[in-house]
Amino acid sequence: MRLLKFLQANRYGNKRLFIFKAAKIWIMILAISLIVPCGYSKQIPPIVLSEKEFIVFKVEISGPPHTIDGYNTGAFDATVVPPIPVTSYQWTWEIGIGAVGNNPSVNFSTPNQETTTIINAHWYARPNSRLLAITGWNCEYKINCEITVGGITCNDPTPHIWRVYLPSPPATTSWPIITGMPVIGIREVNGNDEWYVTGVGDLRRTTPEVISYIPPTSQFYYKIVIVHEGRHVEQLTSMDPWQNLFNANSLYNNTLINMTSTISEADLEQQIQNAINVQIASDKLTAEMTRIDAERDAFNQSNTAPPDYLEVDIP
Ligand SMILES: [Zn+2]
Repeated sequence: MRLLKFLQANRYGNKRLFIFKAAKIWIMILAISLIVPCGYSKQIPPIVLSEKEFIVFKVEISGPPHTIDGYNTGAFDATVVPPIPVTSYQWTWEIGIGAVGNNPSVNFSTPNQETTTIINAHWYARPNSRLLAITGWNCEYKINCEITVGGITCNDPTPHIWRVYLPSPPATTSWPIITGMPVIGIREVNGNDEWYVTGVGDLRRTTPEVISYIPPTSQFYYKIVIVHEGRHVEQLTSMDPWQNLFNANSLYNNTLINMTSTISEADLEQQIQNAINVQIASDKLTAEMTRIDAERDAFNQSNTAPPDYLEVDIP
């Protein structure tokens, strides 16, 4: 009824493009609509309101272009042109033909409303391979909405392309560094001032930090952040050779504790800082040279964790 009232109100308005009264055209377009299924061509379907009137409409989908696995999306909108009262909305998705893995799925928050969001974006594998080198980080869904007006159902002939991805890299682990400064004292040696190291002060090795670019709701959070990056933390904390890199205590006991200056406190601080910088540079070089071993070891751990996708084999 609202639709009829709307159309009657606009009968003599600027809706001439959409409302026709000529029975001749009505018969012609009705015939076309029977031949061309709605929503699968550019053909705009007619809605028959009476023997003398009908309206044509089209559907346009808009929404976010991409979302990281595990996040909820912003709004997807189904717009009917011209704006007429809609009987029902049904949001749909598809991925096209071809073998895939990891169970593609789309969970609409409000599958029967004009606006919806997608809950927990889900990455799937195309083709169905466990290897990142074959699938890459991205997958693609086609999002659409079937809209019914006056008994005619129509969708957008060009569905909205929405990608789900994991950023590269999805997470990292920062190396520790040596930071802080030992305590410096002054004493007299052979009648001259001498600055020397009296204690470890706040000199220390920082702890390795995991930085995640995927949310805890991602299906890969456990595999990548907890297991893989967790293994890197373990390497840097308690496994050779990495646990011995950036070792502030051994630098202090072997080198810094014996440093002195007869010039000034600032001079001794500079000597200490230089020694720290040399140690950091040397340890970074070792870390780089053993990175492949660290990754092989970490992937050996994370490849056994579900889901069995986005995996890397290091020989
Ligand atoms: Zn790694």
